[in-house]
Amino acid sequence: MVYAMHSRKRVLVTGGSGFIGSHLCEFLLREGCEVICVDNFFCSDRSNVAHLIDNRNFELIRHDVTFPLYIEIDEIYNLACPASPVHYQHNPVQTIKTCVHGAINMLGLAKRVGARIFQASTSEIYGDPEVHPQKESYRGHVNPIGLRSCYDEGKRCVESLFLSYWKQNKVSIKVARIFNTYGPKMHPNDGRVVSNFMVQALRHEPITIYGNGQQTRSFCYVSDLVKGIVKFMDSGSEVTGPMNIGNPKEVTVLELAKLIIKITGSKSQLVFKELPADDPKRRCPDITMAKNTIGWAPSVDLEVGLRLTAEYFEKCFRNGGRLS
Ligand code: NAD
Ligand code: UDP
Repeated sequence: MVYAMHSRKRVLVTGGSGFIGSHLCEFLLREGCEVICVDNFFCSDRSNVAHLIDNRNFELIRHDVTFPLYIEIDEIYNLACPASPVHYQHNPVQTIKTCVHGAINMLGLAKRVGARIFQASTSEIYGDPEVHPQKESYRGHVNPIGLRSCYDEGKRCVESLFLSYWKQNKVSIKVARIFNTYGPKMHPNDGRVVSNFMVQALRHEPITIYGNGQQTRSFCYVSDLVKGIVKFMDSGSEVTGPMNIGNPKEVTVLELAKLIIKITGSKSQLVFKELPADDPKRRCPDITMAKNTIGWAPSVDLEVGLRLTAEYFEKCFRNGGRLS
Protein backbone atom coordinates (compact mmCIF):
# COMPACT_ATOMS: atom_id res chain seq x y z
CA MET A 1 0.00 0.00 0.00
CA VAL A 2 1.34 3.46 -0.87
CA TYR A 3 0.90 6.13 1.81
CA ALA A 4 0.75 9.80 0.93
CA MET A 5 3.86 11.48 2.37
CA HIS A 6 3.25 14.63 4.44
CA SER A 7 -0.43 14.97 3.54
CA ARG A 8 -0.80 17.05 6.71
CA LYS A 9 0.69 20.49 7.11
CA ARG A 10 3.90 20.18 9.18
CA VAL A 11 4.13 23.00 11.66
CA LEU A 12 7.04 23.87 13.94
CA VAL A 13 6.16 25.64 17.20
CA THR A 14 9.20 26.95 19.09
CA GLY A 15 8.60 27.61 22.77
CA GLY A 16 5.81 25.06 22.30
CA SER A 17 5.72 23.81 25.88
CA GLY A 18 5.28 27.32 27.28
CA PHE A 19 1.98 28.98 28.12
CA ILE A 20 0.84 30.25 24.68
CA GLY A 21 2.83 27.63 22.76
CA SER A 22 1.08 24.70 24.42
CA HIS A 23 -2.38 26.13 23.60
CA LEU A 24 -1.22 26.71 20.02
CA CYS A 25 0.04 23.09 19.71
CA GLU A 26 -3.36 21.80 20.89
CA PHE A 27 -5.20 24.11 18.45
CA LEU A 28 -3.06 23.08 15.46
CA LEU A 29 -3.45 19.36 16.24
CA ARG A 30 -7.23 19.86 16.36
CA GLU A 31 -6.98 21.55 12.95
CA GLY A 32 -5.33 18.39 11.55
CA CYS A 33 -1.71 19.58 11.43
CA GLU A 34 1.38 17.61 12.31
CA VAL A 35 3.05 19.58 15.11
CA ILE A 36 6.73 19.62 16.00
CA CYS A 37 7.17 21.31 19.35
CA VAL A 38 10.63 22.61 20.17
CA ASP A 39 11.59 23.89 23.62
CA ASN A 40 14.69 24.04 25.82
CA PHE A 41 12.51 24.10 28.99
CA PHE A 42 14.18 27.28 30.22
CA CYS A 43 10.93 28.46 31.80
CA SER A 44 8.58 25.52 31.35
CA ASP A 45 8.64 21.75 31.57
CA ARG A 46 6.83 18.96 29.76
CA SER A 47 3.69 19.25 31.87
CA ASN A 48 1.84 21.63 29.51
CA VAL A 49 2.20 19.19 26.60
CA ALA A 50 2.46 15.85 28.45
CA HIS A 51 -1.08 14.93 27.37
CA LEU A 52 -0.06 15.32 23.69
CA ILE A 53 2.94 12.99 23.75
CA ASP A 54 0.92 9.93 22.66
CA ASN A 55 -0.65 11.79 19.73
CA ARG A 56 0.96 10.39 16.57
CA ASN A 57 0.87 13.84 14.96
CA PHE A 58 2.83 15.44 17.80
CA GLU A 59 6.58 15.42 18.37
CA LEU A 60 8.48 17.07 21.22
CA ILE A 61 12.14 18.03 20.72
CA ARG A 62 14.42 19.48 23.40
CA HIS A 63 16.36 22.14 21.53
CA ASP A 64 17.67 25.65 22.15
CA VAL A 65 16.75 27.97 19.26
CA THR A 66 20.05 29.82 19.62
CA PHE A 67 21.47 26.80 17.77
CA PRO A 68 20.51 25.93 14.18
CA LEU A 69 17.79 23.37 13.55
CA TYR A 70 17.54 21.28 10.39
CA ILE A 71 14.07 19.88 9.74
CA GLU A 72 11.51 19.94 6.92
CA ILE A 73 8.40 21.93 7.74
CA ASP A 74 5.72 24.05 6.03
CA GLU A 75 5.18 26.69 8.72
CA ILE A 76 7.02 28.04 11.77
CA TYR A 77 5.56 29.79 14.81
CA ASN A 78 8.56 31.30 16.59
CA LEU A 79 7.44 31.75 20.21
CA ALA A 80 10.59 30.67 22.04
CA CYS A 81 11.52 33.40 24.51
CA PRO A 82 10.91 33.95 28.22
CA ALA A 83 7.94 36.33 28.43
CA SER A 84 7.66 37.16 32.13
CA PRO A 85 9.82 40.11 33.29
CA VAL A 86 11.18 37.93 36.13
CA HIS A 87 12.24 35.21 33.67
CA TYR A 88 13.65 37.43 30.94
CA GLN A 89 15.62 39.55 33.43
CA HIS A 90 17.09 36.45 35.07
CA ASN A 91 19.68 36.05 32.28
CA PRO A 92 19.50 39.12 30.02
CA VAL A 93 22.30 37.95 27.71
CA GLN A 94 20.50 34.66 27.10
CA THR A 95 17.25 36.59 26.47
CA ILE A 96 18.92 38.69 23.78
CA LYS A 97 20.51 35.59 22.25
CA THR A 98 17.19 33.77 22.24
CA CYS A 99 15.50 36.70 20.53
CA VAL A 100 18.19 37.51 17.97
CA HIS A 101 20.07 34.24 17.34
CA GLY A 102 16.77 32.37 17.62
CA ALA A 103 15.18 34.59 14.97
CA ILE A 104 18.22 34.33 12.66
CA ASN A 105 18.16 30.53 12.94
CA MET A 106 14.40 30.26 12.38
CA LEU A 107 14.44 32.74 9.49
CA GLY A 108 17.33 30.81 7.94
CA LEU A 109 15.31 27.61 8.28
CA ALA A 110 12.23 29.29 6.75
CA LYS A 111 14.34 30.55 3.85
CA ARG A 112 15.93 27.15 3.23
CA VAL A 113 12.69 25.13 3.19
CA GLY A 114 10.39 27.88 1.84
CA ALA A 115 8.24 27.92 5.00
CA ARG A 116 6.04 30.77 6.15
CA ILE A 117 7.14 32.11 9.53
CA PHE A 118 5.22 33.80 12.36
CA GLN A 119 7.04 35.79 15.04
CA ALA A 120 5.69 36.50 18.51
CA SER A 121 6.72 40.11 19.02
CA THR A 122 5.34 42.14 21.89
CA SER A 123 3.65 45.32 23.08
CA GLU A 124 6.94 45.86 24.99
CA ILE A 125 8.45 47.20 21.78
CA TYR A 126 6.37 50.35 22.56
CA GLY A 127 8.20 50.66 25.93
CA ASP A 128 6.52 53.12 28.31
CA PRO A 129 4.28 54.58 25.58
CA GLU A 130 3.60 58.29 25.14
CA VAL A 131 0.82 57.54 22.64
CA HIS A 132 -2.39 55.89 23.78
CA PRO A 133 -3.83 53.51 22.68
CA GLN A 134 -0.84 52.12 20.78
CA LYS A 135 -1.15 51.89 17.00
CA GLU A 136 1.36 49.93 14.91
CA SER A 137 2.66 53.22 13.46
CA TYR A 138 3.87 54.37 16.92
CA ARG A 139 7.65 53.88 17.18
CA GLY A 140 7.78 53.47 20.93
CA HIS A 141 9.58 54.88 23.96
CA VAL A 142 12.08 52.26 25.11
CA ASN A 143 15.00 52.67 27.50
CA PRO A 144 17.75 50.91 25.49
CA ILE A 145 19.86 50.14 28.58
CA GLY A 146 17.16 49.60 31.22
CA LEU A 147 16.12 46.42 33.03
CA ARG A 148 13.62 45.56 30.33
CA SER A 149 15.89 46.33 27.40
CA CYS A 150 17.11 42.76 26.86
CA TYR A 151 13.55 41.83 25.96
CA ASP A 152 12.32 45.10 24.41
CA GLU A 153 15.37 45.73 22.26
CA GLY A 154 15.75 42.00 21.55
CA LYS A 155 12.23 41.92 20.09
CA ARG A 156 12.74 45.23 18.25
CA CYS A 157 15.82 43.74 16.57
CA VAL A 158 13.77 40.64 15.71
CA GLU A 159 11.16 42.80 13.97
CA SER A 160 13.93 44.43 11.96
CA LEU A 161 15.35 41.00 11.03
CA PHE A 162 11.95 39.73 9.91
CA LEU A 163 11.23 42.74 7.73
CA SER A 164 14.73 42.47 6.24
CA TYR A 165 14.34 38.77 5.36
CA TRP A 166 11.00 39.62 3.78
CA LYS A 167 12.40 42.48 1.67
CA GLN A 168 15.77 40.91 0.87
CA ASN A 169 14.95 37.20 0.63
CA LYS A 170 11.17 37.16 -0.01
CA VAL A 171 10.58 35.02 3.08
CA SER A 172 6.84 34.99 3.87
CA ILE A 173 6.60 36.62 7.32
CA LYS A 174 3.92 37.40 9.92
CA VAL A 175 4.90 39.61 12.86
CA ALA A 176 2.40 40.01 15.72
CA ARG A 177 2.80 42.44 18.61
CA ILE A 178 1.14 40.44 21.36
CA PHE A 179 -0.31 42.33 24.35
CA ASN A 180 -0.68 40.84 27.86
CA THR A 181 -2.23 37.40 27.55
CA TYR A 182 -3.50 35.20 30.37
CA GLY A 183 -5.26 31.89 30.96
CA PRO A 184 -4.81 28.29 32.07
CA LYS A 185 -1.26 26.87 31.87
CA MET A 186 0.43 30.09 32.93
CA HIS A 187 3.26 29.08 35.20
CA PRO A 188 2.23 29.87 38.79
CA ASN A 189 5.72 31.14 39.65
CA ASP A 190 6.41 33.18 36.55
CA GLY A 191 5.92 36.47 38.42
CA ARG A 192 3.39 37.88 35.96
CA VAL A 193 0.51 39.83 37.39
CA VAL A 194 -2.36 37.42 36.65
CA SER A 195 -0.53 34.31 37.90
CA ASN A 196 0.84 36.12 40.97
CA PHE A 197 -2.58 37.51 41.96
CA MET A 198 -4.34 34.17 41.31
CA VAL A 199 -1.91 32.18 43.45
CA GLN A 200 -1.90 34.80 46.22
CA ALA A 201 -5.72 35.01 46.22
CA LEU A 202 -6.21 31.24 46.31
CA ARG A 203 -3.78 30.96 49.21
CA HIS A 204 -5.42 33.95 50.96
CA GLU A 205 -1.99 35.59 51.05
CA PRO A 206 -1.41 39.35 50.56
CA ILE A 207 -1.86 40.53 46.97
CA THR A 208 1.31 42.38 45.93
CA ILE A 209 0.46 45.60 44.07
CA TYR A 210 3.56 47.24 42.62
CA GLY A 211 3.41 51.04 42.87
CA ASN A 212 -0.03 52.54 43.51
CA GLY A 213 -1.77 50.10 41.16
CA GLN A 214 -2.95 52.85 38.82
CA GLN A 215 -0.81 51.56 35.92
CA THR A 216 -2.94 49.86 33.27
CA ARG A 217 -2.76 46.75 31.13
CA SER A 218 -5.19 45.17 28.64
CA PHE A 219 -5.59 41.42 29.07
CA CYS A 220 -6.40 38.98 26.28
CA TYR A 221 -7.68 35.48 27.01
CA VAL A 222 -5.39 32.84 25.50
CA SER A 223 -8.01 31.17 23.25
CA ASP A 224 -8.75 34.54 21.62
CA LEU A 225 -5.05 35.13 21.09
CA VAL A 226 -4.42 31.71 19.53
CA LYS A 227 -7.32 32.19 17.11
CA GLY A 228 -5.87 35.59 16.17
CA ILE A 229 -2.37 34.36 15.47
CA VAL A 230 -3.55 31.36 13.42
CA LYS A 231 -5.87 33.65 11.42
CA PHE A 232 -2.92 35.95 10.82
CA MET A 233 -0.73 33.03 9.71
CA ASP A 234 -3.44 31.88 7.28
CA SER A 235 -3.99 35.35 5.78
CA GLY A 236 -2.62 36.47 2.39
CA SER A 237 1.14 36.82 2.05
CA GLU A 238 0.82 40.59 1.59
CA VAL A 239 -0.30 40.84 5.26
CA THR A 240 3.06 40.84 7.04
CA GLY A 241 2.47 43.05 10.07
CA PRO A 242 3.76 44.13 12.49
CA MET A 243 0.18 43.82 13.75
CA ASN A 244 -1.19 44.32 17.27
CA ILE A 245 -3.00 41.29 18.70
CA GLY A 246 -4.58 41.90 22.07
CA ASN A 247 -7.72 42.87 23.93
CA PRO A 248 -8.40 46.62 24.00
CA LYS A 249 -10.27 46.52 27.33
CA GLU A 250 -7.95 48.42 29.65
CA VAL A 251 -7.93 47.96 33.44
CA THR A 252 -5.74 49.24 36.26
CA VAL A 253 -3.67 46.71 38.20
CA LEU A 254 -5.73 47.63 41.29
CA GLU A 255 -9.00 46.84 39.47
CA LEU A 256 -7.53 43.52 38.36
CA ALA A 257 -6.58 42.63 41.95
CA LYS A 258 -10.11 43.43 43.21
CA LEU A 259 -11.70 41.40 40.43
CA ILE A 260 -9.51 38.36 41.21
CA ILE A 261 -10.34 38.65 44.93
CA LYS A 262 -14.06 38.73 44.04
CA ILE A 263 -13.88 35.78 41.64
CA THR A 264 -11.89 33.56 44.02
CA GLY A 265 -13.81 34.61 47.16
CA SER A 266 -10.43 35.35 48.70
CA LYS A 267 -9.72 36.88 52.10
CA SER A 268 -6.45 38.37 50.79
CA GLN A 269 -5.48 41.94 51.72
CA LEU A 270 -3.75 44.31 49.31
CA VAL A 271 -0.12 45.25 50.01
CA PHE A 272 1.74 47.92 48.08
CA LYS A 273 5.34 47.29 46.99
CA GLU A 274 7.91 49.35 45.12
CA LEU A 275 7.20 49.78 41.40
CA PRO A 276 9.95 48.10 39.29
CA ALA A 277 12.07 50.41 37.09
CA ASP A 278 10.67 51.33 33.66
CA ASP A 279 7.29 49.70 34.40
CA PRO A 280 5.00 51.01 31.62
CA LYS A 281 2.26 53.30 33.00
CA ARG A 282 -0.40 52.57 30.39
CA ARG A 283 -0.84 49.88 27.78
CA CYS A 284 -3.74 49.28 25.42
CA PRO A 285 -3.72 48.04 21.83
CA ASP A 286 -5.41 49.73 18.90
CA ILE A 287 -6.58 46.64 17.00
CA THR A 288 -8.06 48.38 13.96
CA MET A 289 -5.48 46.72 11.70
CA ALA A 290 -6.32 43.20 12.94
CA LYS A 291 -10.06 43.89 12.56
CA ASN A 292 -9.72 45.27 9.04
CA THR A 293 -7.10 42.96 7.56
CA ILE A 294 -7.74 39.53 9.15
CA GLY A 295 -11.24 40.08 10.58
CA TRP A 296 -10.13 39.29 14.13
CA ALA A 297 -11.24 40.72 17.46
CA PRO A 298 -11.23 39.09 20.90
CA SER A 299 -14.53 37.85 22.34
CA VAL A 300 -13.82 36.50 25.83
CA ASP A 301 -14.83 38.95 28.58
CA LEU A 302 -12.15 39.56 31.26
CA GLU A 303 -14.26 38.26 34.14
CA VAL A 304 -15.19 35.09 32.20
CA GLY A 305 -11.55 34.47 31.27
CA LEU A 306 -10.37 35.06 34.83
CA ARG A 307 -12.95 32.57 36.15
CA LEU A 308 -11.63 29.91 33.73
CA THR A 309 -8.09 30.74 34.82
CA ALA A 310 -9.02 30.53 38.50
CA GLU A 311 -10.57 27.07 37.88
CA TYR A 312 -7.25 25.94 36.40
CA PHE A 313 -5.19 27.24 39.32
CA GLU A 314 -7.67 25.78 41.82
CA LYS A 315 -7.38 22.38 40.15
CA CYS A 316 -3.57 22.55 40.35
CA PHE A 317 -3.96 23.48 44.02
CA ARG A 318 -6.34 20.58 44.76
CA ASN A 319 -4.13 18.06 42.93
CA GLY A 320 -1.14 19.09 45.00
CA GLY A 321 0.48 20.15 41.74
CA ARG A 322 2.28 23.32 40.84
CA LEU A 323 0.69 25.45 43.56
CA SER A 324 1.69 23.33 46.50
P1 NAD B 1 6.41 31.25 28.30
O1 NAD B 1 7.59 31.70 29.08
O2 NAD B 1 5.31 30.54 28.98
O3 NAD B 1 6.90 30.34 27.09
C1 NAD B 1 8.09 30.56 26.39
C2 NAD B 1 8.70 29.19 26.09
O4 NAD B 1 9.93 29.40 25.36
C3 NAD B 1 9.06 28.40 27.35
O5 NAD B 1 8.54 27.10 27.25
C4 NAD B 1 10.58 28.38 27.35
O6 NAD B 1 11.12 27.25 27.97
C5 NAD B 1 10.89 28.48 25.87
N1 NAD B 1 12.23 29.01 25.57
C6 NAD B 1 12.85 30.08 26.13
N2 NAD B 1 14.06 30.23 25.59
C7 NAD B 1 14.22 29.24 24.66
C8 NAD B 1 15.26 28.87 23.79
N3 NAD B 1 16.42 29.55 23.74
N4 NAD B 1 15.08 27.80 22.98
C9 NAD B 1 13.93 27.08 23.02
N5 NAD B 1 12.90 27.39 23.83
C10 NAD B 1 13.05 28.46 24.65
O7 NAD B 1 5.88 32.54 27.53
P2 NAD B 1 4.51 32.79 26.73
O8 NAD B 1 3.68 33.68 27.55
O9 NAD B 1 3.96 31.51 26.26
O10 NAD B 1 5.05 33.64 25.50
C11 NAD B 1 5.31 33.04 24.24
C12 NAD B 1 5.81 34.10 23.28
O11 NAD B 1 4.86 35.15 23.17
C13 NAD B 1 7.13 34.74 23.70
O12 NAD B 1 7.93 34.93 22.56
C14 NAD B 1 6.71 36.07 24.26
O13 NAD B 1 7.72 37.04 24.09
C15 NAD B 1 5.47 36.39 23.45
N6 NAD B 1 4.56 37.28 24.17
C16 NAD B 1 3.81 36.80 25.22
C17 NAD B 1 2.97 37.67 25.91
C18 NAD B 1 2.11 37.19 27.07
O14 NAD B 1 1.43 38.02 27.68
N7 NAD B 1 2.08 35.92 27.39
C19 NAD B 1 2.90 39.01 25.55
C20 NAD B 1 3.71 39.46 24.50
C21 NAD B 1 4.51 38.58 23.80
N1 UDP C 1 2.44 43.70 38.98
C1 UDP C 1 1.97 43.88 40.27
N2 UDP C 1 2.11 42.87 41.16
C2 UDP C 1 2.65 41.67 40.84
C3 UDP C 1 3.12 41.47 39.49
C4 UDP C 1 3.00 42.51 38.60
O1 UDP C 1 1.45 44.95 40.61
O2 UDP C 1 2.73 40.79 41.71
C5 UDP C 1 2.29 44.78 38.00
C6 UDP C 1 3.56 45.17 37.27
O3 UDP C 1 4.29 46.13 38.00
C7 UDP C 1 2.99 45.74 35.98
C8 UDP C 1 1.74 44.92 35.73
O4 UDP C 1 1.40 44.35 36.99
O5 UDP C 1 2.63 47.09 36.15
C9 UDP C 1 1.91 43.82 34.70
O6 UDP C 1 3.04 43.08 35.06
P1 UDP C 1 3.51 41.75 34.32
O7 UDP C 1 4.78 41.34 34.97
O8 UDP C 1 2.41 40.77 34.26
O9 UDP C 1 3.78 42.16 32.80
P2 UDP C 1 4.24 43.48 32.03
O10 UDP C 1 3.03 43.93 31.34
O11 UDP C 1 4.75 44.52 32.99
O12 UDP C 1 5.31 42.98 31.13
